[in-house]
Amino acid sequence: MMSKNYQFETKVIHSGQRSKEHVDSLTTPIYQTSTFTFPSMMSGAKRFAGQEDGYIYSRLSNPTISVLEERVAQLEEGEAALAFASGMAAVSSALIGITKANDHILCSKGVYGCTFGLLQLLKEKYNINATFSDLATVEEITNSIQKNTTCIYVETPINPTMRVVDLELVASIAKKKGIKVIVDNTFSTPYLQKPLQLGCDLVIHSATKYIGGHGDVISGVMVGDEELINDIKRTTQKDIGGVLSPFDAWLLLRGLKTLAVRMDRHCDNAKKIAANLKTHPKIKAVYYPGDDEHPDSDIIKKQMKKGGGLLSFEIKGTYEDAVQVVDRLQLIPIAVSLGDAETLIQHPASMTHAVVPLEKRVQMGISNELLRLSVGLEAWEDIWQDLKQALETR
Ligand SMILES: *Cc1c(COP(=O)(O)O)cnc(C)c1O
Repeated sequence: MMSKNYQFETKVIHSGQRSKEHVDSLTTPIYQTSTFTFPSMMSGAKRFAGQEDGYIYSRLSNPTISVLEERVAQLEEGEAALAFASGMAAVSSALIGITKANDHILCSKGVYGCTFGLLQLLKEKYNINATFSDLATVEEITNSIQKNTTCIYVETPINPTMRVVDLELVASIAKKKGIKVIVDNTFSTPYLQKPLQLGCDLVIHSATKYIGGHGDVISGVMVGDEELINDIKRTTQKDIGGVLSPFDAWLLLRGLKTLAVRMDRHCDNAKKIAANLKTHPKIKAVYYPGDDEHPDSDIIKKQMKKGGGLLSFEIKGTYEDAVQVVDRLQLIPIAVSLGDAETLIQHPASMTHAVVPLEKRVQMGISNELLRLSVGLEAWEDIWQDLKQALETR
């Protein structure tokens, strides 16, 4: 355990670390075990009854995973955290845990494709209705709240349009009405944005992305107050069972150590690439939260430390032109996912957002000429040279 007064750059390395409990090991060992033995029958009974500390079974808790959960909780400045087998396991556990049949979920205009799919499933199975809003003004938020609204689900910056939602504003209105605010903080990481500090109730990450940071693990985490986290742990996490594996927790602990230095580089690189794209004659528009001319720049200055590593841009021309640009790239791989060392490019309309019906997609601002770039850690000049040569017609 350590004091919470250390700075973020220190906490990513040390928080949750308990070397003394792990034979003085510098890094947290991988407890690759399904179950734990009880010293006596009585002790086992007490652990099940919650009257004695100790591990029971790795779907309930595991020492490697506990260190990860404590570290992430401290980074988000929340009371407790849970780790999951994927970002979607975290999203589904949160939404199923917080809502009941016939509830209403108010969402930001644009959510991750599979989150959109999950909302449709909840509608079909449990008549849980989701509506989408820009959540941009007090009126818009208030008018979008219904009698049966139990939670507001926000992604900011929104994928892939990079519009930003004022979390403090949303949280202040929701609090008065007893509505929980869930924020998918995958794009920003706690280094750039801390939703709990702004009054939100639950933060979710696809830890597959920046938290892991190396493109080698599928995982999710959530952070909130003790009561809410315990509720979700006892219900959806335990009984649906989308838990993380100890080895994957270890990969995340390893990745986290460099989160702050990686994020600085991702942000600096993205800012330079965005600035260069903006001046290119073949580009119609660039969407980047770190751009001073971003329509939400006042909110961004208030709630984000930097602009992040993701940007989108629209090609002048047609879908076929966009296809050609992507296929001409030599350094940058075509892949979904984000937050890796490698710069990655993808086409939202045919990839991450293909499940969203065309009409909704257009409403979300996802055109056929829109490309999304997850700017990696390479030399920015090399990333830019690759984009530039791909944009040049033969
Ligand atoms: C990737 C992603 C998810 C889903 O996470 P998985 O780890 O792939 O299950 C959810 N939200 C956002 C914003 C994402 O980028």
